Amino acid sequence: MTSSPNCRCPVCGGKADDATPATEAGAIPALGDVAVCAYCRAVLVYDGEPLRLRLPMGSERAELYGDEGIARARRMILQSAPSRAKYRVAS
Ligand SMILES: [Zn+2]
Repeated sequence: MTSSPNCRCPVCGGKADDATPATEAGAIPALGDVAVCAYCRAVLVYDGEPLRLRLPMGSERAELYGDEGIARARRMILQSAPSRAKYRVAS
């Protein structure tokens, strides 16, 4: 895990204070990076200054929810902590 901007998921309100980089060990979330909420599995995008999490917009949403790597991350979260996934996100 690595430190993450202290922000909350806009879907469930879960606090995103840690992140597990999926592509580069030790990477710190940056503008435009994609995150999957560990609580509700929502696909989110880091945006703004200071960084905050927002929902993907327009075609970005379909692109991200169709990404196999993101789908794999969402499945891993569900398998590792199914009780945390009490919120369902349409995909
Ligand atoms: Zn969430």
